[in-house]
Amino acid sequence: MRFLDSHVHMVSRTTDDYQRMAAAGVTAIIEPSFWQGQPRTEPGTFKDYFNTLIGFERFRASQFGIKHYCTIGLNPKEANNEKLAEAVIEMMPLYICKEGVVGIGEIGFDDQTRAEEKYLRLQAQLALEADLPIQIHTPHRDKKIGTIRTMDVLEDVGIDPAKVIIDHNNEETVKTVLDRGYWAAFTIYPHTKLGNERMVEILREYGAERIIVDSAADWGISDALAVPKTAALMKERGITLDRIEQVTYRNPLAAYGQSGQISEQDWEGSAGVNPAALFEGNTLLRGGMDVSTAMSQYLMIE
Ligand SMILES: [Zn+2]
Repeated sequence: MRFLDSHVHMVSRTTDDYQRMAAAGVTAIIEPSFWQGQPRTEPGTFKDYFNTLIGFERFRASQFGIKHYCTIGLNPKEANNEKLAEAVIEMMPLYICKEGVVGIGEIGFDDQTRAEEKYLRLQAQLALEADLPIQIHTPHRDKKIGTIRTMDVLEDVGIDPAKVIIDHNNEETVKTVLDRGYWAAFTIYPHTKLGNERMVEILREYGAERIIVDSAADWGISDALAVPKTAALMKERGITLDRIEQVTYRNPLAAYGQSGQISEQDWEGSAGVNPAALFEGNTLLRGGMDVSTAMSQYLMIE
């Protein structure tokens, strides 16, 4: 099978992850802009971060035969530093029109403060003007209230729910998110929050329409193989291959495809990996290493 992991923070991951993901069938990935575990203090670090997402990380993924896309945004946590937030909002129009940018995200609420709402609103407005999908981060505390409040703000701005992917859903939020016409994404965490066993049950209850499974792997304990592993469990539990493909590939493609920046043609019939490629004079592949050889040591998940 092939997979599109629509939420994974590859800047925090190693080349081992890229090798294992490629071997397990992860064909394309979307990397959302987010905070990096420590608050940034200067707008310039956002500029360099955005440049990495559209530049070096895209190249790095390509060296493993994986197509890399991203969303650009000011995350809710750092929206609370208003001086910084203003400067980031100002630079965003320069980045959201770049190649491979499939939406504005992750935006939304963290502590559900006034500043967070202000910058959610501003960025929703920006998405409306640029006609781009929105990727929503829902808060870990008071999730249900925060999710409903997010949808209220988006609708107040005039956003079409069909262009919004709400992530980090759980059993408490999924019904209202689907009922209001949004895409409902689920992050599969290895030990906490939503494990893949629960995901199988959600699929049984709600079906596959507008449901998306992703890894959200980042700098914390997480699993870059969460999507193929969940697919394997779904198959074992009798979910049809068509349904599995819908939630791990076709749905994220349809949702973010609304940007006009991602389509199957990007990887179908692609020329594969060019081991001699350089990024600003640098290569990743040391000592003449062949990527396909490196990958063959990992088990394929079919
Ligand atoms: Zn994330």
